[in-house]
Amino acid sequence: MAFERLSERLQAVFRQLSGRGKLGERDVDEALREVRRALLEADVHFRVVKEVLERIRARAVGEEVLSSLTPAQQVIRIVRDELTELMGGANQGIAFAPQPPTVILLCGLQGSGKTTTAAKLAFRLKQQGRRPHLVAGDLYRPAAVEQLQVLARQVGVPCHTGGPQAAGDAVEAAAQGVAAATEQGADAVLVDTAGRLQVDAEMMEELRRTRDRVKPHEVLLVLDAMTGQEALNVARAFQEEMELTGLVLTKTDGDARGGAALSARAVTGRPIKFVGTGERVEQLEPFHPDRMASRILGMGDVLTLIERAESAMDQKEAQRLTERIREAHFTLEDFLEQLRQVRKMGPMDEILGMLPGLPGGAGSLKGLQVDERELGRVEAIIQSMTPQERRNPQIIDGSRRRRIARGSGTQVQDVNRLLKQFEQTRTLLRQVAGAPLGAGRKASGG
Ligand code: GDP
Repeated sequence: MAFERLSERLQAVFRQLSGRGKLGERDVDEALREVRRALLEADVHFRVVKEVLERIRARAVGEEVLSSLTPAQQVIRIVRDELTELMGGANQGIAFAPQPPTVILLCGLQGSGKTTTAAKLAFRLKQQGRRPHLVAGDLYRPAAVEQLQVLARQVGVPCHTGGPQAAGDAVEAAAQGVAAATEQGADAVLVDTAGRLQVDAEMMEELRRTRDRVKPHEVLLVLDAMTGQEALNVARAFQEEMELTGLVLTKTDGDARGGAALSARAVTGRPIKFVGTGERVEQLEPFHPDRMASRILGMGDVLTLIERAESAMDQKEAQRLTERIREAHFTLEDFLEQLRQVRKMGPMDEILGMLPGLPGGAGSLKGLQVDERELGRVEAIIQSMTPQERRNPQIIDGSRRRRIARGSGTQVQDVNRLLKQFEQTRTLLRQVAGAPLGAGRKASGG
């Protein structure tokens, strides 16, 4: 996960600070030195580090903070605010044109994830009820057009590859594609372009000509987060030539440092609009600087978690489950369904990393290998039960337990453990459902 190490370092600094009670200027300076070191280690550009620390210090040694009852918390809040600002403040999504279609040009180096991102964006827009079309403009890499076509089929959106008149001319192919998409009623057109291994004049020239022909409303630069500082050099070069409107940072799932995400905005003056978090088409998320800053500081990112749950869960199914819990009809079948819904939200360790208040933040999850196989086992056990057993687990005696274990390729102890877990969950759910509104809140300590 991006920011893992930075997150750990910063949280350690603040844990120490929080243990101090009253803070003096010297304590703050010492903590900020550590923050500085952590940011540099995370590959944030040194000039950016310098600037942001000056701002943090100016606010943190202020009268109000040091004399407050909770100075450490105040300092943490200031760091969060400044990191948020650094990453661009509020979230900025696609700026849609007043008159459809909105044309979005994607550029970037070869391998940065342009083609994948085009498909991911199309998927997102389609989910939002829009009518996106894809246009292939990368005619050099032989497999690129085909790759886009495969992805387009997977996402279920039309893909234009330029007719015979384009004859290998990328600019012409892009222009024809946009025209065809417009004619067919697209309200968003995503144009994939050719990248090179390095920034070169020929590529820029072609991109400029493409831009002048298709007149995009958005020019998004796709950057590979794993290349760190190099990504920023690329960003600067593109920004000089192309008047970018925003950035997409890909492969943040493989980048433990996160320095590019932290400095890209400051270096280019352009907002990161989306981040890629994996290879699958649904693994693209809007970039929210404030949520990201909270996550880095171990304050969790509950909003993203809720959004993910909402898009993963079948609303009707969620409603049905809630009702069944209320009526105390919660069966092993429901348990299994609930498990499946949670799994759709993504890998367990990623979900847990977004929860606030884990002691030590996301770092504490290191030792906790959430075993996806364990979930698979639970699924197998429940599936080996008869429908009657799933609805009335109390009838599952010793011989049934042995049969279920055999059928699911597990041990009797596994079956026992699952039944116990289920009983506990059911008891808990009954208490929650039966409790008067608001009572649960008190119990959890607010
Ligand atoms: P292009 O040359 O810029 O069009 O790059 P591609 O779209 O072909 O992507 C290059 C590789 O990066 C492919 O293997 C993608 O699956 C992978 N990729 C793209 N985005 C992400 C991401 O967010 N996370 C991960 N892990 N891989 C990604």
